[in-house]
Amino acid sequence: MSRIILILFFISMTGISYVDAQAKKNLMKHSIAIAVHGGAGNLKKLGLTPEQEKNYRDTLALALHTGYEILKKGGSSVDAVQAAINVLEDSPLFNAGKGSVFTNDSINEMDAAIMNGADLKCGAVAGVRTIKNPINAARVIMDSSQFVFLSGRGAEKFAAEQHLEIVDPSYFYTKSRWDQLQKLIHTDTVALDHDSTTGDITPMKDEKFGTVGCVAIDEHGNLAAGTSTGGLANKKYNRIGDSPLIGAGTYANNKTCAVSCTGKGEDFIRLVVAYDISALMQYRNITLKDAATYVIMQKLKKAGGRGGCIAIDKYGHIQMPYTTDGMFRGYIDTKGKMNVMIWEK
Ligand code: ASP
Repeated sequence: MSRIILILFFISMTGISYVDAQAKKNLMKHSIAIAVHGGAGNLKKLGLTPEQEKNYRDTLALALHTGYEILKKGGSSVDAVQAAINVLEDSPLFNAGKGSVFTNDSINEMDAAIMNGADLKCGAVAGVRTIKNPINAARVIMDSSQFVFLSGRGAEKFAAEQHLEIVDPSYFYTKSRWDQLQKLIHTDTVALDHDSTTGDITPMKDEKFGTVGCVAIDEHGNLAAGTSTGGLANKKYNRIGDSPLIGAGTYANNKTCAVSCTGKGEDFIRLVVAYDISALMQYRNITLKDAATYVIMQKLKKAGGRGGCIAIDKYGHIQMPYTTDGMFRGYIDTKGKMNVMIWEK
């Protein structure tokens, strides 16, 4: 009898310590959070109808939920970032994947980058024309190649070898972007803007940069960032913006933060915006809020730069500063609260 009691006692103790270990493990789990953007600009001038506005908000919310579900199930921030960006790339509303703007040569040339803050691994593509989801190409470059940055036909060849979905360039055609190009194609204006849904495009006045991006933190405390874009409408000479440039438009480092930018890429390249925010945090030991506000609202603004960024730090704090009158953006914070915004602060 006493033997049975002893065995029962032993089982219950083992059970308790197992439950205990599980509880400890759960307690040690990092809080998850995610943020997305769909570009910044003079969004008030877009004259969105309530239905169009709803479409934008719903698509941003869908991207957030898609990424968040992955994080909730214990998935990695890199997977969450990629999945959220896929949603935005597949939507014609944003200037990435389907919905990318046209170049001066009447084609779509896309750029993308992804970075893992845990090990600083990253991958990027530029000037690709046939990869359905350029962020997926950035991901396979990060995971399965010895390189960081591939461009043009070589990047497409590698993507095909990695069994990514390759599409005919006509897949990227959308009427609104085509009509937009027709208004710009005979001008020599550089740094031209993304579409205005009213069809009324005045370069550098009704500007809207429609790049998409995502930053996230997973339950292991790992940060990741990704950005995908069609670049600037009417761009020439295989121009490449900041989005695929690690440190300029995209950066992630577990020690500091993950950042994805949107705006006129040339300014973000010159100021190395994403890395600058991270470096300020690392070397000056300041908060994400102070670093991101300083770089975007002071340095970038002073240099005449237009746009903004989304950023998340190792505690899951989120910042989304921008110098334009709006930025398509949203987040689900560490408490699970979701917020999607366009022009409202
Ligand atoms: N940053 C992108 C570029 O310059 C444009 C954008 O944000 O929409 O290519």
